[in-house]
Amino acid sequence: QRETEKLERYKPAITRDGHRVEVAANIGSASDAEKAVNAGGEGVGLMRTEFLFLQREDPPGEEEQYEAYRKMVRALNGLPIILRTLDIGGDKQVPYLSLPAEANPFLGVRGIRLCFEREDLFRTQLRAILRASLEGPVRIMYPMVATLAEVRRARAITDEVRREVGAGPVETGIMIEVPSAVLLADQLAREVSFFSIGTNDLTQYTLAMDREHPVLAPQADGVHPAVLRMVDLTVKAARNAGIWVGACGGVAGDPAGALTLTGLGVTELSVAIPTIPSIKALLRSVSLTDAEALARRALACADAAEVRALVRGMLSRTG
Ligand code: PEP
Ligand code: MG
Repeated sequence: QRETEKLERYKPAITRDGHRVEVAANIGSASDAEKAVNAGGEGVGLMRTEFLFLQREDPPGEEEQYEAYRKMVRALNGLPIILRTLDIGGDKQVPYLSLPAEANPFLGVRGIRLCFEREDLFRTQLRAILRASLEGPVRIMYPMVATLAEVRRARAITDEVRREVGAGPVETGIMIEVPSAVLLADQLAREVSFFSIGTNDLTQYTLAMDREHPVLAPQADGVHPAVLRMVDLTVKAARNAGIWVGACGGVAGDPAGALTLTGLGVTELSVAIPTIPSIKALLRSVSLTDAEALARRALACADAAEVRALVRGMLSRTG
């Protein structure tokens, strides 16, 4: 029994009608990479590199970062890893960087914006990532992109560093987590190889509800039709440009989110490690046709509660 369970875990998630969805892991450390593989993760869809920068007195240098990234790449043994460049600011504060206080940190210098303000940190990180890319399939992803100029600038810096360290070509992608990125998705898609939808931030910025707000956070549900419409626009633009779309926010690992996102055309779900087996099992139990029908109805719902009720209905029918 145990053995079959284990083997099942490593099989891909293919729907009843033969559609494959990749289920990858969100990780924050090198030890997580091994756990992700053991849980049946088909790679890492989001490595939050800022975790290497938290709870310490100074930023990790190039060698320390290189060692950490290399360990992850090795643990994955040929499976791909998406290393997201520093996403500091907003809710993630790093005292030793002495960043100026902001009245609205979530609308301030965070993510890629901070990488441009502190290009020294960005270049050091890119050097470490690109050196690690020589050991296995590494992809680079930029957080909080809001404009076309930002992707171009990030890519130009990455390319310069890539030549300096003598690394080969590396696939680059961006997080889609700001409404402007959704609306510009056709333009952005021409600059990168993939998108990953950050439903945590996309929900907060779409509904204008702070993701940590004690009163509002429960209402900021990522399966809200407004957010699903954002996902729909993103997938359509990506398809036209011929690039793939993943999702790595909390909603990707929630049954209602996993099904609606799949129905909208997201083909990679990056989720918390313990959730990997159940999301794979869920995807195997449904058909893409049903998920698509669900997604179409979800887009027309009045609110998130209605979407969740639809999903419950669908799951009770499929058993
Ligand atoms: C997100 O915003 O959905 C996301 C995955 O990134 P983070 O939670 O690290 O902001
Ligand atoms: Mg985010």
